Amino acid sequence: MEQRVCYRCLIRDLANSDYGERIGKYLDAIDPKDRTDDLLYEDRLSVCKACEKLETGTCLACGCYVEIRAAGKKTACPIGKW
Ligand code: SF4
Repeated sequence: MEQRVCYRCLIRDLANSDYGERIGKYLDAIDPKDRTDDLLYEDRLSVCKACEKLETGTCLACGCYVEIRAAGKKTACPIGKW
């Protein structure tokens, strides 16, 4: 099946993507003490979804999947948006 491209989407928003499952497994492996709480996580992702640097779940400023970068307490947006 053809992969849908959505420049302002997160990986979890993409239908038929196994990346969502893989990212979920990665997030589950992060020690809870190192993870952002759900509210902060969603706040960060909402900023990413409105950002011109987001392309199909990847931040073009740093090359990370934003859903993983946003989950770290000690990580930050590479251009200071969060
Ligand atoms: S991490 Fe920062 S630069 Fe990258 S997509 Fe999110 S808001 Fe934009």
